[in-house]
Amino acid sequence: MAEETVFGKIVSGEIPVTRLAETERVIAFHDMAPQAPVHILVIPKSTAYANVTELAAGDPALLAEMVAVAKQLAEEHANGEYRLVFNNGPTAGQTVFHVHAHVLAGGLEESALLGS
Ligand code: 5GP
Repeated sequence: MAEETVFGKIVSGEIPVTRLAETERVIAFHDMAPQAPVHILVIPKSTAYANVTELAAGDPALLAEMVAVAKQLAEEHANGEYRLVFNNGPTAGQTVFHVHAHVLAGGLEESALLGS
């Protein structure tokens, strides 16, 4: 079990966010420090996975569901094209150890990679 993180508190409702998408196992909300015109985080409700490597090994269907939600959000909030970023580990820019996908969209042609 991963340690309690800020995203665990968002899942439980202790920290309120506007849920842009929600399924039985996934929620999505705006990143509080957007780095692109559209910057949405997609996270599993489960706190069991700290990063995408653990998630891919432990529950690949849940990872696929996160990607499907990301695609749907990119269609709703941009033109359907998007960048999907998973930071893995502190030296790669990960600060919250509850797996999350950054969905970035909207005028990214000139932008650098997140966390670089
Ligand atoms: P990481 O650096 O771990 O890949 O991404 C964590 C992201 O979570 C950051 O982009 C940061 O802005 C976002 N974040 C951290 N705490 C909160 C919060 O309480 N609410 C929201 N909406 N985003 C958060």
